[in-house]
Amino acid sequence: MLKPILTPRDIAERYNRCMPDEIRQYLNSRGIAATIIDRQLLGWNGANITIPVFGDTFWQVVGFRYATLPQKLGDSPEMQFADTDKPMLYGHETLARKPHRIVICEEEFDRLLLESHGVPAVALGAGTTAVLPQWKDAFDGVEDIFICCGRRTASAEAAKKVQHVLPNARIAKLPAEVGEGGRIFDYFMRLLHTDHDFEVLLASGTAADESTSQPPQIGLLKPADKTQARRAARLRKRVRLHDVVYIFTNLQASAGRLVSHCPLHDDSSRSFSVHPETDVYSCSVCGAAGDVVMFLMNKESMTFGQALEALERFEITGTIYGAF
Ligand SMILES: [Zn+2]
Repeated sequence: MLKPILTPRDIAERYNRCMPDEIRQYLNSRGIAATIIDRQLLGWNGANITIPVFGDTFWQVVGFRYATLPQKLGDSPEMQFADTDKPMLYGHETLARKPHRIVICEEEFDRLLLESHGVPAVALGAGTTAVLPQWKDAFDGVEDIFICCGRRTASAEAAKKVQHVLPNARIAKLPAEVGEGGRIFDYFMRLLHTDHDFEVLLASGTAADESTSQPPQIGLLKPADKTQARRAARLRKRVRLHDVVYIFTNLQASAGRLVSHCPLHDDSSRSFSVHPETDVYSCSVCGAAGDVVMFLMNKESMTFGQALEALERFEITGTIYGAF
């Protein structure tokens, strides 16, 4: 009797079905969601975690990468490269659906974690040493490209190589608190940063040919009352505008800003920008612009004094309204 021929996709599905519960739990502890484990057909071949590499669609499995479990569960798994022939980005199927933005990270597990957070991502992974110029075409039509790399010298070099191929891509460096050799895993799972923090990190990234786009100039409201002026000056330093705006609308990194639908008018596109460097907002449609105090005055129809009170409350409780 003829044996049915197994396609690479069949093999990936079989490995996925064979994944023991403890491996699933291990992947969860690495920040990889159950839905991503199954969509990406992560599996177990009896010795290693199997990671299929897809082509343009999930139907096309073009290779496998294998992860060896570390001795200590806190350590990262070691990757082996077994793609068909030439180095490939891991996450080609994400690129093929042309997301409006994408994050390029270093390692396969970083990418799976980001996708678990709803962030479209690809990893250089086992291809880190070879960044191929022809990868450029795959990024055509992607509006915002971010490179999020670790703090090692090799990571910074890899990021530069990618930026050489994709000059529009912005390099966002993980903060020093992740430690030497720290990665996206440490950022989210050890330091417990939020999705919003990550957007702010991405917005801090810089492109190769950074043209200095000036954030809008705004006149700060100066109350005659000296005490109020002092309170306002202190709050402008202590409370970040994007943290307050985030209560009302989801902000996403785009170029060097955070953007969203404008919370101050009925907005069908993403006209509203927060400039994290200067803590100023602006809307290209309704023309609103200001600082954190003005934002509350505009958004919540507060007086200057009420906005200060709300910000003092926010500093302590994280909410605008309610009791101290
Ligand atoms: Zn607006």
